[in-house]
Amino acid sequence: MRKPIIGISGSILADDSGVFRGYPRAYVNSDYVRSVEDAGGVPVIIPFEADEANIKATIELCDGLILSGGQDVSPLNYGEEPLQGIGDVFPERDKFDFSLIRAAMDRLLPVLAICRGHQIINVYNGGTLYQDLSYDKNCTIKHLQNQRPELGTHTIILEKNSRLADIIGKTEIITNSFHHQTIKTAGSGLEITGRAKDGTIEAFEHNNYPWLISIQFHPEMMSAVNEDMKKIFVALITAAKKR
Ligand code: MN
Repeated sequence: MRKPIIGISGSILADDSGVFRGYPRAYVNSDYVRSVEDAGGVPVIIPFEADEANIKATIELCDGLILSGGQDVSPLNYGEEPLQGIGDVFPERDKFDFSLIRAAMDRLLPVLAICRGHQIINVYNGGTLYQDLSYDKNCTIKHLQNQRPELGTHTIILEKNSRLADIIGKTEIITNSFHHQTIKTAGSGLEITGRAKDGTIEAFEHNNYPWLISIQFHPEMMSAVNEDMKKIFVALITAAKKR
C-alpha cells in the first residue's frame, strides 16, 4: 500500500535583500514537510494560486490536508472592519484557503489546521476572531512567545473525551505559542476541545466530520524533539490511510 499523500497549503515569500529582492517564491516552512515525512506520509506543498479548478485538482491527489500558518485572516471575512491591532493580511490567500477547505471537506479528507489554519477554518465555518489578543480582556498569558520555536511555553487543558486528548494520551500539554489573534466565537460544528489557562481557545474538532483537528499552536516546530507533537502528525497519517 502506498503512503498517504498529505497536501500542505503554501504561501508566497519574498526576500527583502539580495539580487532577487521582492521576487515572489512559492513556499512553506520546511518543518511541515519534515513532520509529515517523520510520521510516515508523503508531503506535497500546494502552491498558493487563484484557479479554483487547479486547487480542486490538487486536492484530488491528496489523502489529507494541513492548513499551515501565516498572515491574519481579513476581518472582512467575518463581518468586521480592521481594528488598530490587526497584523498583515493576505486576502487572496484567504480565498485560496477557503477553496482548499471546501475541496478537502467535499472529499471528507482528514484536515489538520494549524495557527492561521485554525483561524481560517473557524471563519470558514462562520466563527469570529479577536483581531488582536489585547481585545480579549481575559487573555493574560503571553501567547506570542519570544523563546525558540520548539520550546513549549504555556499549558493547554484538553477535554477528556476529545480526539486530541486521545491521540496524545494526556489532558494537559505544554505547547509553543506564536499568535497575536485568538478565536472569539467558534464556527458551527466546531467543538472546543482545548484551552489555555486564561481561557483562550487553543483547539477544536469538528463534531460532524470524519477527522478535523484544529490547533492554535505549532506542533510542526516541536515534533522533532517532542513526542506529544509527533503523535498529532502520526494520527493524521493514520486517518489518511484509513480513507
Ligand atoms: Mn497560545
